[in-house]
Amino acid sequence: MTNQLNQTEAYSKIDISTILPPSTIGILGGGQLGRMMALKARELGYRIITLDPTEDCPCSHVADAQILAEYNDLEGAKQLAQQVDVITYEFENIGANIAAHLEAESFLPQGYDLLYKTQNRLREKRAIEEAGGKVAPYLPILSPDDLVQGVKQFGYPAVLKTTEGGYDGKGQLVLRQEEDLKEGQALVQSGNTEWILEKWVPFAKEISVIVARNAGGEVKAFPVSENIHQDNILHLSIVPARIDLDVEQKANQLAIQLAQSFHLVGLLAIEMFLLEDGQIYVNEMAPRPHNSGHYTQQGCRTSQFEQHIRAVCNLPLGDVELLQPTVMVNILGQHLEPVLQQMSQLDPTCKVHLYGKKEAQKNRKMGHLNVMAESVEEALKKIDALHIWNMEDTKS
Ligand code: AMP
Repeated sequence: MTNQLNQTEAYSKIDISTILPPSTIGILGGGQLGRMMALKARELGYRIITLDPTEDCPCSHVADAQILAEYNDLEGAKQLAQQVDVITYEFENIGANIAAHLEAESFLPQGYDLLYKTQNRLREKRAIEEAGGKVAPYLPILSPDDLVQGVKQFGYPAVLKTTEGGYDGKGQLVLRQEEDLKEGQALVQSGNTEWILEKWVPFAKEISVIVARNAGGEVKAFPVSENIHQDNILHLSIVPARIDLDVEQKANQLAIQLAQSFHLVGLLAIEMFLLEDGQIYVNEMAPRPHNSGHYTQQGCRTSQFEQHIRAVCNLPLGDVELLQPTVMVNILGQHLEPVLQQMSQLDPTCKVHLYGKKEAQKNRKMGHLNVMAESVEEALKKIDALHIWNMEDTKS
């Protein structure tokens, strides 16, 4: 490895902000997002070192090397910093001390500022508002009494969320009636974490936009995805979203406005609620590739993973044009066996992506299918015809 890295040093010094192949990219985290980033980076000629505590993690199969360490292990981060030319990450939970070290000792073009904001729902909402975006009305909840006052203000239902660490609906409680208040108060009282209360948003659709910006300031937003969740886990991304053109443009402009305001480098995935009256609220953001952007792998001229690598390495951004209607459906643990059984007869317009995870537990993301057709309705019919997923809630 040492010889290879010495060889790459010459390339990385051509321009401090542009990282050319065959430089080495370090990826913090070795899950499926790291794996798909690494696959695209390798196509471009980069080398990859991933840091992840799990042997045989999805990214390890496609990386040049893995540093086996916990994400908060400073020694591991130091090793990574020494061995790579540039560092990126595939998840948000990176401690301030690790980020500070990586910024000082290596090259972290995405910086820590936006990551820090998105690590905490309260900071995130304030940042969105400062950048000119709207969010659902919310209140910080510091005590059981705050919760009583909050529910009085917002009415039922309202959503109690942890400020940190929640994902796929975990760390959330929907308060539907007064009887739920006790459970909410007990959570707040437990004192393990901080909470916010959000007013319920009777949204018409959930949509998301992935936007990319490189250090040179070039910005591009991918087509809007319409997202359908089941049990709070993303089930389908439907592109083009079944929304009016002016809403599509408004969502794209909002994404670009946020990217510019945050001086984004890399990708930012922005999940939004579209209201009946056409208003858009930002629900949450992730400064990395996102499950709702997997459709780009077949749907767009450039995938979100290639775009991420381009943005982080300060290469010109790729074309984000949608080539054909595409629906992405997630393969969770319970779907894997039926998908494998049908794999040899799958229509060639159904592209299978599997993450190489050994244990197919219920609701664990094991892979996804990207299904292309003349229209999203046809793509949805193809998925329905496989009889693997519950497609009841796909009507527009
Ligand atoms: P989150 O983890 O914040 O993305 O929430 C998970 C899911 O819960 C979202 O995708 C929505 O379907 C739903 N949800 C979250 N917050 C609200 C809200 N304030 N009003 C209505 N639905 C919500």
